[in-house]
Amino acid sequence: MGPFTVATRYWHELADGRVQCDLCPRACKLRDGQRGLCFVRSRAGDQVVLTSYGRSSGFCVDPVEKKPLNHFLPGTGVLSFGTAGCNLACRFCQNWDISKSKEVERLSEAASPEAIARAARAFGAASVAFTYNDPVPFMEFAVDCADAAHELGLRAIAVTAGYICAEPRAEMFAHLDAANVDLKAFSQDFYKHICGGELGAVVDTLEYLHHSTSVWLEVTNLLVPGSNDSDAEVDAMTAWVVGHLGPDVPMHFTGFSPGLQDDRPAVHPPRDAQPSAAHRPRQWGALCLHGERSRHRGREHLLLGLRCTPGGAGLVQDRRLLSHRRRLLPVVRYPLPRRL
Ligand code: SF4
Repeated sequence: MGPFTVATRYWHELADGRVQCDLCPRACKLRDGQRGLCFVRSRAGDQVVLTSYGRSSGFCVDPVEKKPLNHFLPGTGVLSFGTAGCNLACRFCQNWDISKSKEVERLSEAASPEAIARAARAFGAASVAFTYNDPVPFMEFAVDCADAAHELGLRAIAVTAGYICAEPRAEMFAHLDAANVDLKAFSQDFYKHICGGELGAVVDTLEYLHHSTSVWLEVTNLLVPGSNDSDAEVDAMTAWVVGHLGPDVPMHFTGFSPGLQDDRPAVHPPRDAQPSAAHRPRQWGALCLHGERSRHRGREHLLLGLRCTPGGAGLVQDRRLLSHRRRLLPVVRYPLPRRL
């Protein structure tokens, strides 16, 4: 095995000689030398290995609200980093150059878990986040980074689609402190045809995190015009979140930009129907909603107003400028985003 390749635990041999990866529900069945859909897990001999351990596509120090997490260590900085590869194939992916890259093209930086934790502390961050691509495919590296962060008194955050099987899910999230789970839509048809996944596995993860762990949970939905922003779908999603997780789980609604294979133009704010769709969660009793401001043709638009739990009452999130938040939280000292 190469210097960035490690053995993994979640796989089994099939009767036809292939080896099945059991990390995520995609269940890739691999012959020797083949890679899974995520590209960073592959078969080597009779096992499945991770080929991106200790490598990164880049680092940045962000406000934790940019993840977005508005109720976890608010006003602190987070060391964000990612590797390469993803176990979904969303046509609208905002980070497609990372999520769908081949690691030799993107993973130009090498960093051990301990080095990442030390860098986070050196730059004044309170946490590290696995964020530019989903941490599920590089779970072993993410777990070791989380442990290294804890050794230095820092927290660990996953920004994830939550598309993971039950056993590895329990192991991975046992090492994490907070998660923002991207609930991409609330229809199996969208997950199957736009993302190449299954809605059921994601809602299982949401319920598991909220009811069976101490991981702080916030949920994000990217409203894609004409695909997942109908009143009926936003209603169904919100009713499920409120009914199964509770009205106080923060929900973020974000705006669409063209992605991996999606040639629809960027529209800010999205088409006329979207703002009304984004306001619908209030009708279902959701207590903690966050939207984003966007600038289009020189004017600033508010995609979604905010009604929030007491910890965030009155705040309006602006993911780019965070100007409102800075005024309301004068003690905030964000390290400016920078490359390490
Ligand atoms: S983690 Fe990767 S290799 Fe494993 S099943 Fe999912 S996509 Fe396939």
